[in-house]
Amino acid sequence: MPDLIEFINRMPKVELHLHLEGSIRPVTALELFYRQNPGAPHIDYSELSKLYRFDSLGEFVNGMQRITNNIQSLEDLQRITAELLESLCKQNVHYVEFDCAVQKYLDIGFPLDVIIDSIYTVVKNFQMQNRIVANLNINLLRGHGPEKAERLVQQIIALNHPFIRGIGLSGDEAAVQQKEFTLAFQIAREAGLHRTAHAGESMGAQSIWDAIHYLQVERIDHGTRASEDDQLMDYLALYKIPLTQCLTSNVRLKVVDSYEQHPFQQFLQRGICVTLNTDDPHVFDITLTGEYQVAAMTFNLTALELRQIVLNSIRASFMSDEEKNHMQRMIAVEIDALLSHIGREKTALA
Ligand SMILES: [Zn+2]
Repeated sequence: MPDLIEFINRMPKVELHLHLEGSIRPVTALELFYRQNPGAPHIDYSELSKLYRFDSLGEFVNGMQRITNNIQSLEDLQRITAELLESLCKQNVHYVEFDCAVQKYLDIGFPLDVIIDSIYTVVKNFQMQNRIVANLNINLLRGHGPEKAERLVQQIIALNHPFIRGIGLSGDEAAVQQKEFTLAFQIAREAGLHRTAHAGESMGAQSIWDAIHYLQVERIDHGTRASEDDQLMDYLALYKIPLTQCLTSNVRLKVVDSYEQHPFQQFLQRGICVTLNTDDPHVFDITLTGEYQVAAMTFNLTALELRQIVLNSIRASFMSDEEKNHMQRMIAVEIDALLSHIGREKTALA
């Protein structure tokens, strides 16, 4: 197992399900909180982790709202983006698609092009200095309702920024049904934007069917509760609809009772294109490297299965086919070199 851990540490990785607002370092969140609430009572750093403890998706959505309400300037967004990319580079993440809840910043009064350019400036600098490529998806928030979502999609299309690859849908699944967003997703699809949606997290398999039928998504964020429906699992495998799985997020928000109960391995064995992701790394105090380690240990995954999961992530990404082919070649070569290097030292890498 130590060899597998070393392999995971050094393996190039891809992250697809990552919320910028869930990537705020606790210390940064605290600083932003005090700036917005100068008279607030002192919170010890050790107490901070308690603020990040949520027992349900509803609590989580409300809690995150309190934290993100303190993001008030473009410099805040740039700082959070820089801290996120720094953390990903340390983990050998070569490609990331993160999402940003831009509606919040539009509501503050910033124009969309200014918000996107602020984030993209940081991304470009990181891309020049590090081996990482980053693209953005813009999340529509269920809580803001379908009309606002439709207006935002129109703005995204008008902006036509190459950094924005697609749209997502997040927020409390129980509050607003997928089909309410049919028109927003249709407008996005007709303009050539990629599409994903959170489904099968707090709600059951039907929410995944609805995301496929009404929203015509190309991938599903989470999709964990697909395990409740055999026909759906067959459909996901047959039509190669990827799932961006987030193990610790699902355990912490009680989508599953434990890592062992998570259907990840079942999905893998049924030929579903599963990927590993963090969702909200600093909220859950996790890393992508750590999630690969948890998956490897919980499900006894081999190095070749881990390699497959990384390659699945490239396939599931919203890069162009040309970009995917290039990234796949590069990452496969690197992983194979790593496997043979470690394999030479230990002939049987589990
Ligand atoms: Zn998510």
